[in-house]
Amino acid sequence: MTKTKAMTIQDFFGQFPDDDACLDHLFRTRFGDEPVCPKCGQVGKFGRLANMPAYTCNCGHHLHPMVDTPFERSRTPLQKWFYAMFLFTTTRNGVAAKELQRQLGVTYKTAWRMAKLIREYMGYVDGEGTLGGRGQAVEVDETFIGGKDKRGHEDKTVVLGMIERRGEVVTRVVPNRYAKTLVPIIRQCIAEGTRVMTDDWSTYRGLRNWGFFHESVNHSAKEYVRGDAHTNNIEAFWSGVKRMVKGTHIWVSPKHLPTYLGEAEFRYNLRNQPQMMFPLLLSAFQRP
Ligand SMILES: [Zn+2]
Repeated sequence: MTKTKAMTIQDFFGQFPDDDACLDHLFRTRFGDEPVCPKCGQVGKFGRLANMPAYTCNCGHHLHPMVDTPFERSRTPLQKWFYAMFLFTTTRNGVAAKELQRQLGVTYKTAWRMAKLIREYMGYVDGEGTLGGRGQAVEVDETFIGGKDKRGHEDKTVVLGMIERRGEVVTRVVPNRYAKTLVPIIRQCIAEGTRVMTDDWSTYRGLRNWGFFHESVNHSAKEYVRGDAHTNNIEAFWSGVKRMVKGTHIWVSPKHLPTYLGEAEFRYNLRNQPQMMFPLLLSAFQRP
C-alpha cells in the first residue's frame, strides 16, 4: 500500500473556506450530489435556503443536513467543528482542550466537550474486529496508565492491549491483570489458532489451553526477543499512548481513559491511510 499524505492546512481551508462550504459538504455526503426529492421525485433540484441551514426542492420540500447529527445540538459553527476534526486527524499525540480553545476561539467548556465527542466518534469509526487467525501473530500485553490522584496516591488504570502484526490494535480498560479477567477478553478478541506473543507474566501461561499457540519472552530475565517472539509492537503502542496522555493532556481520569484509548486505536489502525482519517471521522458524525 502506498502511503498517501494527510490533508494539509491549505487543503483544509481550500475545501472548507466557510460554514456554507461545510454545510454543502454535509448535504452532498448525506444525500448525494443529485438527491431525489422524497416528496415529488424530481432529481437534483435542491438549492440552498438563505435563512436556515437547509436545502429546498422546487416543490418546496426541505432537506436538513444537520438533523440527527451532533451538529444539530451544537451552537458551535460547522467550520469550527470541521477544523477541530482536522486537528485531531493530523496530530500525532492528540489535541488538548486548551489548545482547541485557543485555536477555535471557543470557551474551554465547549472545547472540552468537542474533544470528548470527537474522541468518541473516533472510537466508533475504529470498531472492533477479531484479531489473528491460524499462522498470524498477535502481541498481548498489559500496562498501567495514569499517575497520582489529588491526594498524591497512586491511581493507575490497567489496560490490556492486543496488536496483530501488520494489523490492528484493540485495547480494554480492565480492573486487574489476573487470568480470570484477561483470558476471557483475549478469547473474545483473538481467533483460536493464533500465535500469541506475551511477556512472562503468569496470567498468560494458560493460553495454550484455549487453542492458542503461546510464545513468551522472559522480560524479568532481560530477554526481549526470541526468534520472532517479541512484544515490541504493543510496547511501541503503549509508549505512544503514554506520550499522548502525559505530553498532551498531563492527566486523564480513569473514567475517560477508554475514549482516549479509542483515539489512539483510531490513529494506529489508520496509520497507513492517514488521508482517510478526516473523511472517515467526518462521515461518522452523520450518526446521532
Ligand atoms: Zn420536490
